[in-house]
Amino acid sequence: MTIVHNLGFPRIGARRELKFAQEAYWKGESSRGALQAVGADLRQRHWQHQSGLDLVPVGDFSFYDQVLDMSFTLGNLPERVRDFHGDQLDNYFRVARGRSAQGADEHHACCGGVAAGEMTKWFDTNYHYIVPEFTATTEFKLDASRLLAQLAEAKAQGVKAKPVLVGPVTYLALGKAKDDSDKLALLPSLLAVYSQLLDTLAEQGVEWVQIDEPILVTELDTDWQHAFNLSYHQLKPCRVKILVATYFGQLQENLYLLANLPVAGVHVDAINGQDDVRPLLNLLPDHKVLSLGVINGRNIWKTDLVKVLDWLEPLAERLGDRLWIAPSCSLLHVPVDLNSEQKLDTEIKSWLAFALQKLEELHVLAQALRNGRDAVKASLDANQAALAARRASPRVNNPAVQQAVAAIDAKLGARKSSYWKRAGEQSALLKLPAYPTTTIGSFPQTAEIRHARSEFKAGKLDDAGYKAAMQAEIGRSVREQEALGLDVLVHGEAERNDMVEYFGEQLEGYAFSQFGWVQSYGSRCVKPPILFGDISRPQAMTVEWISYAQSLTSKPMKGMLTGPVTILNWSFVRDDQPRSVSCKQLALAIRAEVLDLEQAGVRVIQIDEAALREGLPLRKSQWQEYLDWAVESFRITANGVQDQTQIHTHMCYSEFNDIIASIADMDADVITIETSRSDMELLDAFDNFKYPNEIGPGVYDIHSPNIPTQEHIVQLMKKAAERVPAERLWVNPDCGLKTRQWAEVIPALTNMVAAAKALRQAA
Ligand code: GLN
Ligand code: ZN
Repeated sequence: MTIVHNLGFPRIGARRELKFAQEAYWKGESSRGALQAVGADLRQRHWQHQSGLDLVPVGDFSFYDQVLDMSFTLGNLPERVRDFHGDQLDNYFRVARGRSAQGADEHHACCGGVAAGEMTKWFDTNYHYIVPEFTATTEFKLDASRLLAQLAEAKAQGVKAKPVLVGPVTYLALGKAKDDSDKLALLPSLLAVYSQLLDTLAEQGVEWVQIDEPILVTELDTDWQHAFNLSYHQLKPCRVKILVATYFGQLQENLYLLANLPVAGVHVDAINGQDDVRPLLNLLPDHKVLSLGVINGRNIWKTDLVKVLDWLEPLAERLGDRLWIAPSCSLLHVPVDLNSEQKLDTEIKSWLAFALQKLEELHVLAQALRNGRDAVKASLDANQAALAARRASPRVNNPAVQQAVAAIDAKLGARKSSYWKRAGEQSALLKLPAYPTTTIGSFPQTAEIRHARSEFKAGKLDDAGYKAAMQAEIGRSVREQEALGLDVLVHGEAERNDMVEYFGEQLEGYAFSQFGWVQSYGSRCVKPPILFGDISRPQAMTVEWISYAQSLTSKPMKGMLTGPVTILNWSFVRDDQPRSVSCKQLALAIRAEVLDLEQAGVRVIQIDEAALREGLPLRKSQWQEYLDWAVESFRITANGVQDQTQIHTHMCYSEFNDIIASIADMDADVITIETSRSDMELLDAFDNFKYPNEIGPGVYDIHSPNIPTQEHIVQLMKKAAERVPAERLWVNPDCGLKTRQWAEVIPALTNMVAAAKALRQAA
């Protein structure tokens, strides 16, 4: 009979209980015991939710990050925290979050401050893990305490436990050799600890262990493919059954490798890697279990259960007991419970499924496979009715938008003239000095701003009162910028809580949840808006605010928009049309805003594409296709303007080498990027030939409370001028200033403006 299981459950809690418990503990407002109790409580609740499954994940819960958990299990702690005298959990948080040298905690005197572990994105999700650190002398030592404790807890509660581990090859591949040594040289000693761990689990009566190896959906060179064979041959004698789980993409050339690993079963993502399934069936030796991820663990839509059954039933016939079913990946990447939503439009709600609803869907599929479709007829009928309603809904389909997208041609994305001609006209109009200064958009979101917004949302402040409060903030930021002597001003984004939500709320085709939180890292969660229908813009979204700001100054005021690719990449998107189509719809809507701003006399318009790089597919062979439509969407958005109108874009990261041709293709007049921490070296990517337009390399690390000195900024800019001609350089911070205080921003920008003046004089 088909086994039904789950790969992982969201740990943060339906009401973000874990977040609040973590933060209270970190602030010293609650005890370690209280935090641990919240953890135990969440685990219990989550296991109860999964009690209908044949196998339930254990060890997927984490107080910060599952990769960091694995580092502790393997005894791979960074050198700098090894001597810590305090509690293990506190040390864990020290690696996760760092500890400043001025700390006041009990172990400060003996153990001092430490730098946090580096954090990076988990494959193509918005979840971030703490990067394991290695050196040539790294030694591993098993500490199974966390897993054993959770296993004991699960057993006591009668949970049919299947421990979950990050696999050895993925663990090694995702880590960083701090001394540039060969990570693979560590594999034998790493495997010794994994063997010990599996045997320890076997002693506890564990039958199946899920070992996650998502690195298999990326391009692996032969050394790493070999590492897979070596690893699983080494683990073969262990007395547990291993299910190697892959997800997020296609196995392609790694299919054969996975099929032939000496393990008891494999899990594949039958949503993103559906094409792998047929060939895998033919390759898989017939004693192995095949677990198919048939419910999408990455989106919030109801599954078409009948379609899945049509596909699955013949496979079930063929595989019999060897077929398992599960969500495509851990449910970590979706919110917990749709039933929490009180305000979501009921029609839209009827199309959605969060983690708990996805488990129900899985249950229906299992019943249909076991007892026939008739046994779950009512559920299947309801499912089909909801999907049919969604397909037919006029809220999803807007023929005018579909026609506009169909009518897009190359002209739409092209500026009228080349950069050289535009630059001449823009400088004649804007009359900016050399090394012009600007900021990236937001100024501090003060307590007054947050207060006014929450009063407004609660209905305690009316439209006029809210508008007046925001205008007062805009006025303040304009006055400050004039006093600082900046050249191109911004309005400060006081009226925006979030750079995507602000636009989503004003666009037709978007919905918002109340509790649709997804963990991004540690205690940080994001609530992605839900893009459900064809996108249109009923009215201008920013013109009034920008025009007001412009009315307060004779300096150029920069209009501030979020670009289509970033809006798309930070949303839950439709599963009924390609991402590229949704992106082009967004592009047309933002393009209309760009043209309205220009019409209103705004001469400089910035279109942020903070998340462009994030959307890159996992396999390099698919990058170009993505970049092509992403760049085209930006061009459609930006390039309808006159030559005199200056288009800026902003990207807050510092890896451009491999995508520079596409960035240049966007043809923005000015790009501002993050550089201050990389000492301008990244500008090598922007060498004259590769990037012909203007660049503002960030000179002020806004993530840090430190105030950059004038000398430091001058030095950074001199380094920049060695790489990019000075006439094409701007002076600006790395990113927006919304998370900083005015008391930090004023001295930092004072130094920045002084640095620009010094550079002009020296020129
Ligand atoms: N304009 C935005 C701001 O300044 C850009 C933020 C971002 O790039 N993440 O806040
Ligand atoms: Zn940024």
